[in-house]
Amino acid sequence: MHFEKPFTVKGFPPHNLESTSTLSMSQRPPTTWIRVSLDLPLADGFDYRVAQTVEIGQRVIVPFGRRQLIGVVVDLPASPAVPEAQVREVIAVLDDLPPLPDDWLALTRFAADYYQRPWGEVMLPALPGPLRRVAAYLGKRAAGGPVRRVERRLERRAAKAVANAPETVAAPELNPAQAAAVEAVTSAKGFGTYLLHGVTGSGKTEVYLHAIAAVLAEGRQALLLVPEINLTPQLQQVLVSRLEAVVGAGAVAVLHSGLAEGERLEAWLQIWQGQARVLLGTRLAVMTPMPSLGLVIVDEEHDTSYKQQEGLRYSARDLAIWRAHQHDIPVVLGSATPSLESWHHAQAGRYTHLSLPERALGTMLPSVRLIDTRRLTLQHGLAPELLQAMRDRLAADQQVLVFLNRRGYAPVLHCTACAWVSQCHACSAWRVMHREFGRARLRCHHCGAHGPVPRACPECGNQDLQPMGRGTQRLEETLAEQFPGARVVRIDADSTRRKGSAAALFAQVHAGEVDILVGTQMVAKGHDFRRLGLVGVLNADAMLFSHDFRAPERLFAQLMQVAGRAGRHQPDSQVMIQTGYPDQAVYQALQRHDYVGFAAHGLEERRSAGLPPFTYHALLTAEASNLAAAIAFLEAARNEAEAPASGEPAPPPGLTLFDPVPLRVVRVNRVERAQLLLESEHRPLLQQFLKQWLPRLSALPSAKSVRWQLEVDPLEI
Ligand code: ADP
Ligand code: ZN
Ligand code: ZN
Repeated sequence: MHFEKPFTVKGFPPHNLESTSTLSMSQRPPTTWIRVSLDLPLADGFDYRVAQTVEIGQRVIVPFGRRQLIGVVVDLPASPAVPEAQVREVIAVLDDLPPLPDDWLALTRFAADYYQRPWGEVMLPALPGPLRRVAAYLGKRAAGGPVRRVERRLERRAAKAVANAPETVAAPELNPAQAAAVEAVTSAKGFGTYLLHGVTGSGKTEVYLHAIAAVLAEGRQALLLVPEINLTPQLQQVLVSRLEAVVGAGAVAVLHSGLAEGERLEAWLQIWQGQARVLLGTRLAVMTPMPSLGLVIVDEEHDTSYKQQEGLRYSARDLAIWRAHQHDIPVVLGSATPSLESWHHAQAGRYTHLSLPERALGTMLPSVRLIDTRRLTLQHGLAPELLQAMRDRLAADQQVLVFLNRRGYAPVLHCTACAWVSQCHACSAWRVMHREFGRARLRCHHCGAHGPVPRACPECGNQDLQPMGRGTQRLEETLAEQFPGARVVRIDADSTRRKGSAAALFAQVHAGEVDILVGTQMVAKGHDFRRLGLVGVLNADAMLFSHDFRAPERLFAQLMQVAGRAGRHQPDSQVMIQTGYPDQAVYQALQRHDYVGFAAHGLEERRSAGLPPFTYHALLTAEASNLAAAIAFLEAARNEAEAPASGEPAPPPGLTLFDPVPLRVVRVNRVERAQLLLESEHRPLLQQFLKQWLPRLSALPSAKSVRWQLEVDPLEI
């Protein structure tokens, strides 16, 4: 994200945030009226009466209809917006925490404005669960409230704890490229965005650690965001111990969605109260109040898990940059394959480009070979050349990784006598065949519905139903047959469903107890498999021909990641990609490890097609019981924009509204979905338009039969 005028913090706050100023609570006269933001899709604030001194940022319990809700005080108006007689009394003013700080209010307010949501729907979900639940305060077992409970737990632990010195890990000496990157970041004065482009294994983590150590030495805090998959227990442990070796035990707090509510509150409090100095977290961590933030790092900045896909559809990377700007501090975006948006900003000089061109351990990047499958007879989906290479590597006592980003046994079951396929009844998608405890089942990956495989074709009674295509389960089975002496393990969402099973499987691989690893994208990130000499890639073409214009970019990033698992320790490692389209730019660039060439080519295509980062998108999605209703609403919404009722502003020139179209998977769980894309070369123009257009949509007659939502900067269209 690059800031243009309307989005700088200078224009902020539009709200009355300054009024929480210099007077202390005791000097202040009691407040009479407060405006409270609630987690409701309605308006921005509701007014209440109160008879004590209240500050902006404090949480209060208020009546709403027949319910009681926790909200945040956002204004102290001189008089209420509705007649005084209608204003209700606050139930309780919560003072277990100081008021939420101004910069946090500003951050959530910005996110609400930018992503076109009521402020309360951003602010409250950003708080740990217990802080926004009335029962945690007024219930029978509230016992002083959740904050007090966490504090008691921490005290008990502190009394018991014998300082557990972190293992000292010998830190390697920085190489010149790393040292230059650290120097650039630590000598930065004020806000600046640094794009750290380093090939896989180039030692980006070491750069982060040094930069973090430097801000901690100044008594400040650091925020390190990582993709979701990098905080799976086994990877988290590695990262935390490396961080603790640099910054000290107890200085690191971890936040991710897998934590229990109490744990999340604990980490959140430790960061806000300053006991913890480094916050390591997934996208949700970006909304944590950090009183002395000095540095922000977004590792794997291109990763799609930074984008929240429901509720407030924010980009944690973009908010991280905004926060750095707000605090006037540097932000580092690291990646082996930066998003084209970030790369474009670096090319234009808005981001400072830092480069780690070589692997830190001195090993070479693996060689990449494209296996053209067009003129080949595949054996169970595998090219003879790949099979031979696997045999050779196994004979040399190396490990092999076979990457197939499709779980299950086979993507579809079909009848050999008629046209029947295992279609999901609730979705416009096939049910995937899975093998579970020796029995075959059909599962829909969209709605989750599942059932046994029919004994005979439901259409014609034929008993010969056959799986078509292959997923990781079938691949595992094939490889076990082809390599009878080898130890084959599969790692995907199915094989790791039980708690702890992923850790156990990865431990086996790391301990060298596995010869062939079959996996989905779960194995692509972060892992360092010592004996890995060969990576085979199957069925990558499926991603190439997706409708989404970002598909090649994502495929490139993913394959670079998987390829990056190879050769960290093996000198002559290799990647083999089976493809029917070896001439595609993605594969050609991969073969040369040429991110820069790929990005140049990709940006040129985007420029000529008028796509991001050269334009800005917003996506209006409608869901209804039938597609016609969804399309009708989107048509009406477009009409409302293009031919507004008298008195409403006309759409600005420079804004394009495309035709409403069904989603690629149009029906999910009996709900049909369509979308309307808006595009403009000017972000402020798009923003201003959305602001005045969206409120008018709820009033459209066709809005009654749909659920709609808007996404700003969508990643998938
Ligand atoms: P990246 O995150 O860029 O893929 P890592 O940070 O995981 O790379 O580093 C790859 C490997 O190189 C790690 O084993 C790390 O300990 C090692 N390493 C990093 N910097 C150096 C260095 N300056 N000298 C020697 N080894 C290093
Ligand atoms: Zn049939
Ligand atoms: Zn389904």
